Amino acid sequence: MQSRKIACNGCDLLIELPSVIAEDKKWSCPRCLHTITRGHKDAVSYALAIAISCLISFALSYSFSFIGFDVSGQYRDIKLIQTTLELFNQGYYFLSILVFALIGFLPVVYLYLLIRILLANIWGTTGKDLSYIAKSIHRLIPWLMVDVFLIGVLVALIKMWGLAHLSFGFSFWAYIVFVIQFSYLLYLVDQHKLWQWVKDAQ
Ligand SMILES: [Zn+2]
Repeated sequence: MQSRKIACNGCDLLIELPSVIAEDKKWSCPRCLHTITRGHKDAVSYALAIAISCLISFALSYSFSFIGFDVSGQYRDIKLIQTTLELFNQGYYFLSILVFALIGFLPVVYLYLLIRILLANIWGTTGKDLSYIAKSIHRLIPWLMVDVFLIGVLVALIKMWGLAHLSFGFSFWAYIVFVIQFSYLLYLVDQHKLWQWVKDAQ
């Protein structure tokens, strides 16, 4: 059976892994116990379905009302994009661009790059840039903070609970679905699987 060496994300120890990991089998670093990869049946199709589903829920979360406020009979609802536009309008230019990049732009870039690798794997197309794409995905991962943004929104809503009557729009629920799907995708697509898909496509 073919094997490949991969560096542990936790302690950089080089670990030799088989190219095919049995379903539901987990490999951990022997030194720091960091989980390296988990076996998954038909992970390519599974990851592709979740990635496309993420794009749909992401598009829905930016298309409709996110949260509605009713303060003393005056109602206002905001869309998700307005959370960053509002910061921009108040003069927090750098912060608004940073928030938009972290919650809006980079997750879509990640999904696009991942789908390219998955489709290359399924269709058997070769591309010299696949290794570069995998490296880019690896660099992107620490900057993907969709779950942090959701926690921030929930904390802000708890503080506002007594001050205004709040209603949750369709986009709010779509964003929660997106965060759950996206977090699961990050959990599913580990470094080992990613490089194995690149190798299989070439
Ligand atoms: Zn380790």
